[in-house]
Amino acid sequence: MAEIAVLGAGIVGIATALALQERGHACVVIDRAPPGSETSYGNAGFIQSEAVEPYGLPASPLALLGMALGAKNAVHLHWPSLPGRAPALFSYWRASLPASMRRVIPLWRQLVSEAVPRHAPLIEASGADNLIRRDGYWLVHDTPSGLAAAVLEAERRQKEYGVAFTVADRAELSRAEPALRHAPAGAVHWTAPWTCLSPGRLVGAYARLFEARGGRIVQGDARALKRSGAGWQVAGLDAEHVVVALGPWSPELLRPLGYRVPMVRKRGYHRHYGGEHGLRRPMLLADHSVVLSPMLDGLRIATAAELSAAEPNVNPRQLARGEAAARALLDLGAPVEPTPWSGTRPCLPGMLPLVCRAPRHPGLWLHFGHGHQGFTLGPVTAARLARAIDGDAAAVEGLDRGLQ
Ligand SMILES: Cc1cc2nc3c(=O)[nH]c(=O)nc-3n(C[C@H](O)[C@H](O)[C@H](O)COP(=O)(O)OP(=O)(O)OC[C@H]3O[C@@H](n4cnc5c(N)ncnc54)[C@H](O)[C@@H]3O)c2cc1C
Repeated sequence: MAEIAVLGAGIVGIATALALQERGHACVVIDRAPPGSETSYGNAGFIQSEAVEPYGLPASPLALLGMALGAKNAVHLHWPSLPGRAPALFSYWRASLPASMRRVIPLWRQLVSEAVPRHAPLIEASGADNLIRRDGYWLVHDTPSGLAAAVLEAERRQKEYGVAFTVADRAELSRAEPALRHAPAGAVHWTAPWTCLSPGRLVGAYARLFEARGGRIVQGDARALKRSGAGWQVAGLDAEHVVVALGPWSPELLRPLGYRVPMVRKRGYHRHYGGEHGLRRPMLLADHSVVLSPMLDGLRIATAAELSAAEPNVNPRQLARGEAAARALLDLGAPVEPTPWSGTRPCLPGMLPLVCRAPRHPGLWLHFGHGHQGFTLGPVTAARLARAIDGDAAAVEGLDRGLQ
């Protein structure tokens, strides 16, 4: 069996190492930081079985204009970054159009349907059951018209894809969540997703499982990667195959090798808040585009997308708006951290992650670009990549778009 080096110890890299190990390969994971300490630490912790269609940009020019002007909290544009990002953003917008989406959805939906079944045995084997909730999340709407539209959309998803949900009106939501200070119009309860009380700790548990099964995790800089005979060398180690699973940092590593990956970087922020907030189940506040997740470190408020290539904002507007909405709803204490966390969703214009062989370099494999759903999909695409490395090219069919 081959010696394989996996670059990156986020959910994608660690899940790759576990999948390869399961198939009998000797694996080493290389990261400059401890497992699960970057994007895979900072997310909202949803394993999203309901996300059966990828998150695109709005197709209508009016909605795009509203987005550009910051009318809603879903997207914030950092204008100075835009010129350099325009080609990738334009491709992303084109891929968001209904005809392109229709081509992508069958494969996407298949991947998402594999997510909970792929996480389940890893959660069990890593003893991480205490980090997982299996009761879905609320999609909360402030207004009756917003709720009615959300219910119609949920019914469509149920009919087309069999996604399970129930609806709670104002009174039912108040009964289910007695800590709410006032009751919004109601919520769609997506019942099937799982949510996590600490995404970083879950990746840490998966990493320990990999080590307990004989794998090695080594601290090192992936940028030292170079060809060595018929294989590769990195961080003083030789490997026959290398998997690039560096999340948002992957394109940077590949550029010197002649690969251009137009990534759309969607920055998100989070912060934990102390106090007895009393929330029983995570909530996505649809009218404020923030997620409220009860986690081990406090109530995590996580924001939607800031399109920015700049340094993180120390006073992010989306988080401030989200915090105000959360304080109106719940008895929130003080922030736990002095400044918010921020990280980047690695989104690719083709709407699908890149899971394939690098076309011009034998033994080099690409595994990144999971965008909004990497925490959900890491173990799914990892299992497929491991099969591809063993010669089953069909396992990753359609997952090589996004490479130029
Ligand atoms: C606010 C927010 C909320 C989100 N919510 C969800 C959610 O609820 N559900 C969901 O499914 N997804 C969610 N996501 C997306 C998800 O977090 C990402 O898609 C996923 O974590 C990407 O994982 P990764 O392993 O590819 O990247 P990372 O977790 O970023 O891992 C990359 C690793 O590469 C390492 N690295 C980088 N450069 C080098 C180098 N030169 N040398 C060595 N190592 C290096 C880093 O240290 C890091 O450990 C969210 C994202 C954000 C920002």
